Formats: sequence, C-alpha cells, structure tokens
Amino acid sequence: MTVAQNTALIAGVEVSTDHWIDGRRVPSKERFQDASPIDGSHLAEIASGGKAEVDEAVDAARRAFPAWAALGPEGRLPILKAFAEGLRARAKELAAVETMDNGSLLGGNLMRVVPRAAQNIEFFADWATTLQGHVIEGTEVTNHVRYDPAGVAALITPWNAPLMLTTWKVGPALAAGDTVVVKPPEWAPLTCSLMAEVAHAAGLPPGVLNVVQGIGELAGDALVKHGEVDRISFTGSTDTAKLIGEAAARSITPMSAELGGKSPFIVCADADLDAAAQTVAAQYMNAGQVCLAGTRVFVEVSIEKTFLEKVRGAVAHMAVGDPRDPATRVGPLITREHFDRVAGFVERAKAAGAEALWGGSPANFGPLYFQPTLFANVDPASEISQREVFGPVLTWQTFEDEAAVIAAANDTHYGLAGVLFSRDEARAMRIASQVVAGTLWVNCFFVRDLAAPFGGSRDSGIGREGGSWSFDFYSDIKNIAVRKGSFGQQGG
Ligand code: NAD
Repeated sequence: MTVAQNTALIAGVEVSTDHWIDGRRVPSKERFQDASPIDGSHLAEIASGGKAEVDEAVDAARRAFPAWAALGPEGRLPILKAFAEGLRARAKELAAVETMDNGSLLGGNLMRVVPRAAQNIEFFADWATTLQGHVIEGTEVTNHVRYDPAGVAALITPWNAPLMLTTWKVGPALAAGDTVVVKPPEWAPLTCSLMAEVAHAAGLPPGVLNVVQGIGELAGDALVKHGEVDRISFTGSTDTAKLIGEAAARSITPMSAELGGKSPFIVCADADLDAAAQTVAAQYMNAGQVCLAGTRVFVEVSIEKTFLEKVRGAVAHMAVGDPRDPATRVGPLITREHFDRVAGFVERAKAAGAEALWGGSPANFGPLYFQPTLFANVDPASEISQREVFGPVLTWQTFEDEAAVIAAANDTHYGLAGVLFSRDEARAMRIASQVVAGTLWVNCFFVRDLAAPFGGSRDSGIGREGGSWSFDFYSDIKNIAVRKGSFGQQGG
C-alpha cells in the first residue's frame, strides 16, 4: 500500500500526521516523534504546531463561529449525529490506532471507548435541543434564560484516553454552538487526527473543529495564551493546570480543569467482598493510568485477611502483556520517561519501608511494562500515599471505624473520586457524603452517566462537566428580564 505524504500507516489505517485547520490539512516543518508503548516502535512524525498554527486555527474557528452558532441546536443536531455515526462506523480503526498509540487494551477500546466517544457527541447534541425556553417567573419580571454559544473553545487533553476525553469536550462544546481548537496529547495524537476526518466527512463546516498537533509547552501554551479564545477546557495534570490557570486569569477566560487524583477505595466489613475484590483488581486497568483509580485501599480491620486473599486471587488472573491480546489485562506504561517516574515512586516507597504484597518491579514482558503492585505498611504522610503515581500501584491500609476512614480518605490534596463497598445503605451514604470527591461510587466503579456531573475538588479540578453542567460552561448564559405587563403599552 502506498502511503500519502504526511500520513502514517498504523495497524493498517492511514492516519494524517498534519494539523487540521479550517477544513484542510496543514503541515508544519517542525515535527516530533510518536512511538508505540507496546514495543517502542516508531509510529509517526507528527506536525509540531506553535503560535502560527494556533493563530491560524483560532482565526478559522472565529470565522466559522457565527454561522455555526446561528444554526441553533436543531440545525446542528443532524451534523453531530452523523459525526457520532461516523465514529461508530470507524470503530475498529479508531480502536486499533488508539491501542497502538497509547497502549490501552484493544478490547476495551472497541467495546467501551469508541462507543462512548460516539455517545459523547450524540448525547450532548440531543441535550442541547432541550436547553432553551427556561422561564423563571419573578414578582416584577419574567426571566427568560438563554444558553447562547460562547465562542471559540480551546480543548486540551491527555494521552491516557485521548479519544474518549477529547470527544467528552468536543461533544458539548459543538452542541452548545461553540467552535473548537483541539490540542491533542503529544504522546498519543493519532485518534484526534482521525476524529477530525470523521467530523469533516459528517459535514462539519470548515473551521468549526480544528486540531493543532504539538508539544504542550509550545502549541498548548500558545493556545491558552492566545487571548481570543472564550473557553479553556483542560484535562491533564495539576501542575499543567496551574500554568494554564495563570494564562486564563490574564485574559479572564473561563476555565475548566479535570486533573489528577489519589482516590480512596473503602471496603467495609459488611461488603460483598467478592465484588469488592474484583473491583480493587480493576484499579490496575490501563496499567493504572487512570485519573479516577481508587489507588488507596482502606479495609475494615476485621476482614483484612479474608479480603486480602480475595484481592490476591483476583489480581493473579490479571495477565500483563500486549494490549492487542484479548487475554491481557495490564498493558504498558506510555513512555520510558513515565515508566521511570513510576519505577521511581516504587523504589522510594520501598526505601521508606513500604512492603510490596505483590509486584514492586518491572514485569517480564517488555521495557515499558510494570507489575501490578500493592504496598502495605505505608506511612499515610509519605509520598506513595500522597502523590498520584499514574501506574499500577495501590496502597493498602486498615481502618477501625467510620470517623477514622473518612479522615484518612480525605487526607490528601486531591478530591477527584472514591469507591466504597458496603451493604449497609445508611452507613454507605454517611461515609460517601463526607468523603471529598467529585464522584463517589458505591458498590460499583467507573460508571459514567453522561447526564451526571463529573469533576474534581481541591487539586483535582475546577468546575463540573456532564449533562447541564457542560452547557453551563460552554454557553454564555443570559437572562432577559422582562417587566411584567410592559409589552403592548403605548409610551406617553
Ligand atoms: P499533562 O498535564 O502533562 O498534559 C495534558 C495536556 O496538556 C497535553 O495535551 C499536553 O500537551 C498539554 N500541556 C502540557 N503543558 C502545557 C502547557 N504549558 N500549556 C498548555 N498545555 C500544556 O498531563 P498528562 O501527563 O498528559 O496526563 C496525565 C494527567 O492527566 C494525570 O494527572 C491524570 O490524572 C490526569 N487526567 C485527569 C482526568 C480527569 O478527567 N480528571 C482524566 C485523564 C487524565
């Protein structure tokens, strides 16, 4: 097969390595290397954007904005439905490319990630059609609440689930009538390139969705400092969010941030221990490169031994290996740099006296694979208890009573999520309501209802997205307050 210039053949799929600006491919002289975490093989040389490409993309988005906004939710609906359908139609290609690019499990991408990406577009397109017409009757005035499109949204996403997380922003932003400039993650930029192609084929007008590839410190930085974007939605690390926040503050641009976590996983003695054990094992999915993962396990002391054996049994079945193999449960870490970071956390934890109940070393599979690891004997104030590892590393502690576990659960700077297993509804709700977290799953994990709010507290984020909260962010909400009885009266 001949491959066109500035494209790469990934798992049999031709993917453009250029930007997508104003309805066409735009190259850059500067390029960066994209490698597969599966085996370190070279995948593509990706266009590395900077200020010039960002300016071009924001200009295109600005020009496209009035017509896109004027279509209204009903006018945008068929185009966005076609976009969702297009993603579904190319599910196999998108799943395979994402797996090659970020090492996530092929089965999971096919079964969950791509269908969810399509749903991200479709769900918000439908929701937008229900937004207008909200009326609040006051005593003096009738308040007509409008959700007006805000303008150009800058969307910046991370590598651990690029297609899912980018569509999670693209869907509501486009549905709200905004136009967008996406800056995909440099460690896994390929599915965002395909996404632009799918959007174009679905009939999205030029300039409505733009993709500027590039390095965070260059393309991302230029985008957030552009000054003419109306919203910045960021998912990534807390450190980067602080930099973006400074830029957003300078131009008074509303910003939403979905950041890291160190979420608690609480298991009460009355829980369904088999289900809880399977769910603890599930925290190793995506090799632990999941913002939401419940990485600090707290077990009621009376069941510690029994429960530990159940978790051990569940984890024993988790094969580390090639993410394209259906038997694999734990794939690679994203890059050498990230692998060294994870290994560094593990070595320092051991040096500080933590005991690896299992794992604790690289896996015997390839250079970027790490064993699922569980540390006991951890000091709650130590690095391994406090900092996000973003690898397959959990800690294990026991608790004696509710007050103690709530205090322990809240003893980090994060507040993204939490997991709780208990059969006692009153107890579960008591604990759940006191744990600081944007989402607290009770007797389940990772259930993301698109209508529900999602986001983090403390260092885990600013704002909530999902359902109406997404539209609160991507819209300019206006109140037209009309004095009652004032129409139809002649001026005198
Ligand atoms: P990161 O902050 O390094 O990068 C995220 C994105 O920001 C990338 O596209 C990157 O290019 C860009 N970027 C980097 N520096 C920038 C700058 N100075 N200006 C503008 N953009 C810049 O994060 P990462 O390593 O890609 O992702 C991992 C982190 O993301 C973890 O902390 C994880 O918990 C978090 N995360 C959070 C959620 C959530 O929904 N809360 C979901 C997934 C990942």
